[in-house]
Amino acid sequence: QHEYLRKPDWLKTKINTNESYIGLKKLMRNKKLNTVCEEARCPNIHECWSERRTATFMILGDTCTRGCRFCAVKTGLPTELDFGEPERVADSVEIMGLKHVVVTAVARDDLKDGGAGVFAESVRAIRRRVPGCTIEILPSDMKGDYESLSALMSSGPDIFNHNIETVRRLTPRVRAKATYDRSLQLLKRVKEIAPTIPTKSSIMVGLGETKEEIMQAMDDLRAHNVDIMTIGQYLQPTKKHLMVERYYHPDEFAELKEIAMSKGFSHCEAGPLVRSSYHADEQVSQASAH
Ligand code: SF4
Ligand code: SF4
Repeated sequence: QHEYLRKPDWLKTKINTNESYIGLKKLMRNKKLNTVCEEARCPNIHECWSERRTATFMILGDTCTRGCRFCAVKTGLPTELDFGEPERVADSVEIMGLKHVVVTAVARDDLKDGGAGVFAESVRAIRRRVPGCTIEILPSDMKGDYESLSALMSSGPDIFNHNIETVRRLTPRVRAKATYDRSLQLLKRVKEIAPTIPTKSSIMVGLGETKEEIMQAMDDLRAHNVDIMTIGQYLQPTKKHLMVERYYHPDEFAELKEIAMSKGFSHCEAGPLVRSSYHADEQVSQASAH
């Protein structure tokens, strides 16, 4: 039993509720869409939606078959697949005037293809409707099914993102239904299928990992040809989720970024509020210039 740590000042952010933000929230409800930005109560939502013109859609429903102990998405038996979702996502990307979109999905372990078909269709629909928008996909490990992975990759995303989320030792605690190696293998396989598409992965810190373990995770990602890494502070979404073991200082994040860059990543974002999709728009151009 240990006490809750006090949140440091650099994590206290104001939620911005200006008109354009409220309008966009309404749009999401009208289109029956879910965004990670809202679900995870992301502190960057104003900057992303209104200034950077980027957002992270979560498709294939709002209920996940897994139940990772850091994640705020609800767990249970998912609803039926919604074949109208790809067009509604594309509609919203167009209406929001997005320049970069991240498409992620709950893990649909109940489906044979893990939802890859609807996922790929969503990417195609966005491409068709908003050709200028770069598309990053952030799928689950699809249980390591490479046929589903190939089906998804055939939609031609601009960035492939899959998060290992934490260091090797903590993976069974943090995401019990995934494995560290299966995620690494998936990232490597993507590079084999599509060598020119940048791959990306992220970890959260503050779950009890050591600095050596973080550096090992960096080495593991590089050994599986991952180009881009993001590192952010873990924040406990509710009291039922894993506790925060430590808050890292912004200077420590700066040091981690430096270490990551020295290990050969083409781009690394590291900071207290950095999320997997944070400043993703910059990563596309930097990665393709690599
Ligand atoms: Fe959404 Fe990601 Fe931006 Fe947060 S950082 S608001 S989740 S796009
Ligand atoms: Fe959350 Fe993804 Fe884990 Fe599902 S698989 S609980 S959406 S992190």
